[in-house]
Parts: sequence; structure tokens; C-alpha cells
Amino acid sequence: MPTDFTHATTREPHGDRAQAILRAHPDVRRYVGKNPASLIIVVGLVLVQLSLAAWLQHRPWWVMLLCAYFVGAFVNHGLLVMVHECAHHLVLRRRVLNTLTGMLAGLPSILLNSVAWSTYHLRHHAYQGVYAEDFDLPSRREARLVGHARIPKGLWLAFFALILATRPLRSRRELAALARNRWVLLNLLAQLAFGPSVGIFLGGQAMGYLLASLFFSVGFHPLGGRWFQEHYLVTEGQDTYSYYGPLNRVAFNVGYHNEHHDFPGVPWSRLPRLRRLAPESYDTLVWHSSWTALVFRFVLDGHQDLYRRMIRSDEPACDPSGSDRSPGPTIAYGGRESRVGRSSE
Ligand SMILES: [Zn+2]
Repeated sequence: MPTDFTHATTREPHGDRAQAILRAHPDVRRYVGKNPASLIIVVGLVLVQLSLAAWLQHRPWWVMLLCAYFVGAFVNHGLLVMVHECAHHLVLRRRVLNTLTGMLAGLPSILLNSVAWSTYHLRHHAYQGVYAEDFDLPSRREARLVGHARIPKGLWLAFFALILATRPLRSRRELAALARNRWVLLNLLAQLAFGPSVGIFLGGQAMGYLLASLFFSVGFHPLGGRWFQEHYLVTEGQDTYSYYGPLNRVAFNVGYHNEHHDFPGVPWSRLPRLRRLAPESYDTLVWHSSWTALVFRFVLDGHQDLYRRMIRSDEPACDPSGSDRSPGPTIAYGGRESRVGRSSE
């Protein structure tokens, strides 16, 4: 059984692959841009989620839970994908409008500070596999505590929403940076106003519906398989994997993960076109077809654990002199210079 993450022996792949695709298909640049329709989707999904919460306030608790599992989880997950789109500034032209749209999309998640999450998600792109910077990686303590047994792994997945919200707490430097970010504070105030307002105006069970939807949307649910799809190692030398199964239709193509890491400036609606444009780059990689199978495999298979991730460095990416040792080459795409591993914005 492994007692640590796998140390990479290859270069971070996304920059090199993006460059190869740009050379072979220069018109890939036209996929980079914004999708303002995502704003309409955010408003629609927030209204659906609040309407369902109000309706379920006066239904039996088990109806509320079933609705949260079979409907609310998908609605909330869709909103989290939109938070991700806003993190990469893929919705509207102005950065501040993307931040505000992300805050709106994150409101029904009650416990999630979408600005804080967006901040550390962009660091995940810039420093994939750098242990001190990439909070998409579980901590070593987390991996050791969860271990290989079924019950701890099931509990870890069931409460993954809490783990997701608290990952940056493992770094004092990250915590200090978040505390200085006034948008994080504004988002916190909005969440503190929104959650109790749902309880007061719609009722406690309505609030319970939103919370249950959040926990199912990233936890013990087919959608939770996404966490084992994205970066859990299943083959040697490949540390990012896509999912091309049917749930992409209700998950706004979030399964196209290699495509997203290669070109983070391409909005969700154009990711399948990107795959079709460069099949020689994507269809030759290992990919997944079932999130549900990944959930069962992680929980039931005694060989699966949180150490199945690739790391490239244990050191912080920035040294005390402030020089940036971020991996990934700098190339031009989308009409401007940008580091491929980072968001295009
Ligand atoms: Zn991303």
C-alpha cells in the first residue's frame, strides 16, 4: 500500500499539449472567449433551487431528501460548475461581473465561499501537483486519516463539501491572503445574510434541502465520482483524466478536464468541440466513462486511497525573493500572452 503520493517523473503536460494543438490547429483560438448565456443559466438555476426549497418546506422530510438527491444535487452541481466558469472569467467581459456572478451562483451552496474557492482553484491550475500550492490535492494528514477502509472513505466522500470549503486552512500563508481579500469578505457577508434568510423566510426544512443538495452534489452521489476522475491515477505517467459519459449533459461538460486544463480560456459549451478538433491529442489518453463506477471503486476497493495523486514538488512555488517558479511554458493563445497552466484572464 502506498504511504505517499506518486512523485512525477514527467513535465507538467498541459502546456506542452496546448502548444502542440495550437501548432496543429491554429483555429483553436476561436474557441477561447466568453459565454454570457452562463449568466442566464445561473439566474435560472438559483430560482429553480429556491423554488424547490420553498415547495419542499411543507413536504415530508423523506420527500425533501429524495428530491435533494435526484434533483437538487444536479442543480447545485450545475451552479458549482458555473462558479468554476466565473473563476476563469469565462462568462462576461469585466472581471468584477464574473466575480459577482460567481457569488450569486455560490449562494445556494450556503457553506461555500465561491471567491475563496476560485482563488485556490486558479492556483491549482498554475501549480498543479505542487503540494504547498495546490489545494486540490488532499493533505498528507487527510490521506493518512482516511486510509483504505470502506467506512472512513465513505464518510470522507459524504462530507467532502466541508473538506472542499476548508482545504486552504492547511496553509497559514493562504489563509492570510484570503483574509486580506475584500471580495472574500464580501462573499462571506453575503453567505451569512443568505443562509439565515432562507431559514427565516422559507423555513428550516428549505434550508435543509439546500444543505442536502450541496452535500450530495459533491459527495456520496454519482456526481461525486468527478473527484476520482479528474486527477486520481489509473495509469502511469498521466495525472489528468477526462470523463466523456452521459452526465456531462447535466454537468455542463465539466468532465472535459484535460481539455479544460490545456485551454482554461475555453468556456464549458465549446469543450466538446475542442476534443473533436484534436482527437489525436485527447482520444489517445486514458479517459473515464462512468462517475458512478468510480465512486463504488474508491469506496469498496481496498487498494484505492487518497494517495493516488501525482505531485511535482513539495516546496512552495514562490521563493522568499518573490521569483515565480511556476511550471508551464508561456505561449500566446486567445490573442494574448498567457501562461498555459493558468486561467487565460
Ligand atoms: Zn479550472
